[in-house]
Formats: sequence, structure tokens, C-alpha cells
Amino acid sequence: MAASLFSGSRRAVLVHAKKMWEAGLVVASAGNVSARIPGSGLIAITPASIPYEVMTEDQIAIVDLESGELREPGPRPSSELPTHRALYAARPDIGAVIHTHAPHVSVLAVLRQPLPPVLDEMIVYFGGTIEVARYAFTGTDQLARNAAEALGDRAGVILANHGNVCVGPDLPRAFQIALTMEATARVYVAALGIGSPVALPDDSLLSGRALYERRRI
Ligand SMILES: [Zn+2]
Repeated sequence: MAASLFSGSRRAVLVHAKKMWEAGLVVASAGNVSARIPGSGLIAITPASIPYEVMTEDQIAIVDLESGELREPGPRPSSELPTHRALYAARPDIGAVIHTHAPHVSVLAVLRQPLPPVLDEMIVYFGGTIEVARYAFTGTDQLARNAAEALGDRAGVILANHGNVCVGPDLPRAFQIALTMEATARVYVAALGIGSPVALPDDSLLSGRALYERRRI
């Protein structure tokens, strides 16, 4: 039966969506989480407008990446489905996508300021500066294109006046990126309040980038 075929993927997406909510990276039903179902051309993605508090495994939508259509009847998938599809299409290496409204990342989003590598771990986790995607309204194909373009080969991107998107080879690593990006943004925003944060030296950027390349696999 199809439902049992996808239950592992649905459960993993639900678990990480609730973790995202419990970590304070989103409130109510904001944000969304998806993961590739390996070898199927499908993703499991959180539904639209259902609060995480009451979201259940069978409400996680199964969507065909190519067509964007629901594979099984059920709740409507997240309105940010176009961005998830665009990122999976642009980056065959990623297996999971997490979109949050993390508070300190959102401060940078409204300022439309990128998050430069100011902490050693940033370059290792993110692969470089987290850029700001050009603004487009939430849920649109234009936002999807802008996000994919600004993501590049890094682990996340800031969405102007909105939040961020974090990616990884799997859900645990995409979630780790989401947590790390918010923690880093908190430090960066605080540092901006009292001075001028100092960028990492070039040799640290190179060393960190080499470690990032290894972690992506
Ligand atoms: Zn959002």
C-alpha cells in the first residue's frame, strides 16, 4: 500500500518540522520542510496552513518533483512548494530543504544584508557567505528562481523581507544548518550593534571551505 511505502519519509519530515517549531525557528504553521524520497522522483513536504502542534504524519504531502502534482490525495502541500522544487532541480546533491522565519536571520532579511563568514564554524557548515535572494512575493515562481540563484553551492540563502532556506544531504543536516544559521545570525546581529564584525582571514576561508566540501557528501 502506497501510504506505508512513504510512511518513513512522512514521519522524518514531520519529526523535523516539529523540531523546527519547537526550536522557535517558526511559529504556528509558518515555514516548511521537505525531503527527497530516494530513487522515486518524489518529495515528502509539510502541508499548507496546518499548525505544527496538531500536524500528523498522514498530512505530509507526497509530491512529484517534475510535475508538482500530489501523488496521493490529501492536504494541499506548502505554498512554498515552487521554491522546494527549484532547489532540488538546481542541486542534485541536496536531499532536504527547510524554510524558516528564524528571528535573527529575519532581522538580516528585512535589512537585506547577507551573513558573511564571521565565525570559524560558519564556513565549514555553510560553505561561504549566506547571500540574500532578490525579493519576490512568497510562494511565487519568481521567488523560487531568485532563491535557487542566490543559494549557489552553499547550504542556505536568506529570502529578502521573509526568512531563509536551508539545505543539506538529509533532514538532520539541513536542520543543523537551520539551527547554526540562527545561532550565527544572533551573534552577528549583536556584534553589529556594538561595532564592526571582522571577517575571517583568507586562509581560514580556504580551510573551512575544504571541510565544507567533505561534509556535503
Ligand atoms: Zn515563509
